[in-house]
Amino acid sequence: MSVGETKSRVLYLRLLRYVAPYWRMFTLSILTMVLVAATDPLFPALMKPLLDGSFVNKDPTTIRYIPFALVGLFLVRGLFGFASDYALNWVSNRVVLDLRAEMFGRLVKLPTRYYDDASSGALISKLAYDVTGVTAAATTVLTVMVRDSLTVVGLLAWMFYLDWKLSLITLVIGPIIALVIQAFSGRLREVSRNAQQAMGDITHVLDEAIECHKVVKVFGGQDYERRHFGAAIKRMRDFAMRQTIAAGASVPLVQVCAATAVAVIVYYSTQQSGVSVGSFVSFMTATLMLLTPLKHLTGVNSSLQRGLAAAESVFSVIDEPPEEDSGTQSIGRADGRIEFEHLSFSYPNATRPALTDVNLRIAPGETVALVGGSGGGKTTLANLIPRFYQPSAGRILLDGVDTQTLTLASLRANLALVSQDVVLFNDTVAANIAYGPLAGADEAAIAAAAEAAHAMEFIREMPQGLQTIIGENGVRLSGGQRQRLAIARALLKDAPVLILDEATSALDTESERVVQAALETLMQGRTTLIIAHRLSTIEKADRIVVLQRGRIAEIGAHAELLAHDGLYARLYKIQFAVEDDASGRQDRAHARDRSSAPL
Ligand code: ADP
Ligand code: MG
Repeated sequence: MSVGETKSRVLYLRLLRYVAPYWRMFTLSILTMVLVAATDPLFPALMKPLLDGSFVNKDPTTIRYIPFALVGLFLVRGLFGFASDYALNWVSNRVVLDLRAEMFGRLVKLPTRYYDDASSGALISKLAYDVTGVTAAATTVLTVMVRDSLTVVGLLAWMFYLDWKLSLITLVIGPIIALVIQAFSGRLREVSRNAQQAMGDITHVLDEAIECHKVVKVFGGQDYERRHFGAAIKRMRDFAMRQTIAAGASVPLVQVCAATAVAVIVYYSTQQSGVSVGSFVSFMTATLMLLTPLKHLTGVNSSLQRGLAAAESVFSVIDEPPEEDSGTQSIGRADGRIEFEHLSFSYPNATRPALTDVNLRIAPGETVALVGGSGGGKTTLANLIPRFYQPSAGRILLDGVDTQTLTLASLRANLALVSQDVVLFNDTVAANIAYGPLAGADEAAIAAAAEAAHAMEFIREMPQGLQTIIGENGVRLSGGQRQRLAIARALLKDAPVLILDEATSALDTESERVVQAALETLMQGRTTLIIAHRLSTIEKADRIVVLQRGRIAEIGAHAELLAHDGLYARLYKIQFAVEDDASGRQDRAHARDRSSAPL
C-alpha cells in the first residue's frame, strides 16, 4: 500500500469517528439510499408492459394498473429520496458543527507564535469553508458509491435480463463513444483555460498602463504598452476562436455518436424476431438512465481527493499543539514582585536575539518605564510576562515563583494588559468591560470601573448607556474612548501587575490627557511596566530602563539618568527638541514623534 493510500485511509477512519455518534441516522440514510437505487430499474421495467400491454395488445388490466404503478413508483421514490437526503445532511451538518467547535476550541488555545505565522484569512477559510468542503465531498462520495453504483448494477441487470446480446453490444460501443466525447471535452476545457489566462494577461497589461500612467507618459512608453496590449488581445482572439470551434463542434459530435449508437441498437433489434416495442423502449430507457450515474462514478475520485485535502486542512488545525501549560502551581493574588533573571529570547528564524541577558527586579507597586529605540525589545519583554512566548534562556519570577511552574490561568489572573490597539468585542459596553471570568459582574462595579477610567462620561451619552452594543456592528468609538474602555476593563480585573504597551501612542494630545488621567488611577497600587513614547508618562516612573538592541543599557530615575548624560539623556534631548517645536509645526512633529522618535 502506498504512502498516499495509507494517509487517505487514516483520514477516512478519522472522519468516520466523527460520524460514529450519529450512526443511527447514518444507517437510515444508507438504507433509504439503497431503496431509492432499487426503484431505479423499475421505471424501465414498467415501460415494457406499458407499451406492449397498453398500446400494442390493449390489455384492459395492464391499462388500468400501469398509471397507478407509475405514480406509486415515483411517490415511493420521492419519499425515500427525501428521507435519505434529509438523514445524510442531518449527519453531515452535525459533523460540521462538531468539527467547527473542535477547531475553534483549539484556535483559542493556540500559542502566540502560531498567530504570528498564520494569516488570519487562511485560518478563517479553514473554519468557514474547508469544514463544509469535507462533508460536502463525503456526502457526494457516499451517495455516488452507494446509490449510483447500485443504480448502475440494477439497470445493467435489467438490460441483461431483457437481451444479453444487445447489452453486450451496448457495453462495447458505450465506452468508445464516452472516450471520444471525453477527449473532445478535455480539449474544450484546455482551450477555455488558455482563454482565461489570456484574459488575465490583458487585465495585467491594462492594470499596469492605468496604474503607471505617469511613468508611461514621462518615459514615453505608449508604444511599448500598445505593443504589449496588442499581443495580449491577439492571443485572446485566437483562443476565443478555438473555443468557438471546439464548443460548436461538440454538440453535433455528441449527437452523431448518440445517433450511431441508437442506429446500431435499432438495426440489431429489427434483425431479431423476439424484440417487442416494449422491450426495445425499455432497453433504450435503461441505457439513457445509465448515463448520469456513470458520469457521477467517474467523477467520484476527484470529489474524494478534494474532500481529503479539505479534511487534511481541518485536522491540521485540530492537531496544532496548544499553548504549553505544564505549570501546576497556583498562586492566589500576588503582591506583584517581578524579577527577570538572565532572560534571553530569540524569535524563530530571527538573525539576532530580541532580548539578551536581561536582569531586572521590580518591587510590588513600583512603576518601571521601558524606553529605547524601535525594535529594542520592549514589546517582547512585556510579552514574555504572560508567557505569550517561552524564554530561550533565563526565567521570570512572580513573587519569587518561576512563572513557568505556574498554570497559565493562575499567572494571567494576576496580569492586566492595555496596549496600543484596543480590542472591543461585538457586545455591550458592560460586557466589554466585564470580560472573561468577570462576565456578569455587578453593574455597579462595572459603572465604578468605567467612572474611574473616565469612560462613564461618554457612556452616559450613548443610547442605552452601559447596555449599548459596540464593536463591529454597534456604535463606533474614537481611539481615546476605546482606550478608556480598555482601562476600565483592566480596572475591573484589578490585577496586581499591569502592563501598558504604548497605550496612549495612537492618541491625539487632547484625548491623551484624559486617558493619561485614567491610566494614573489604574496604576495606583499596582506593579506597572509601562512602555510609552511620552516623556510626561516616563518622567513620573520610579525607574526608567533603557533597552537597546535587546540589552539593558541604563537603569535609573529620570533625574539620575539625565545627570548620567548617556543614552537616555540623548533620547530625551531629541524628543525635548521635538516637543518644544513651534506650535505651527506641531502636527508634523507629532507624526515624527510617533514614527521615528526614539522615546
Ligand atoms: P519594540 O517594542 O522595542 O519596538 P519589539 O519587541 O517589538 O521592539 O521587537 C524586538 C525585535 O524582535 C525586533 O527586531 C523585531 O523585528 C523582532 N520581532 C518582534 N516581534 C516579532 C515576531 N512576532 N516575530 C519575529 N520577530 C519579531
Ligand atoms: Mg513595541
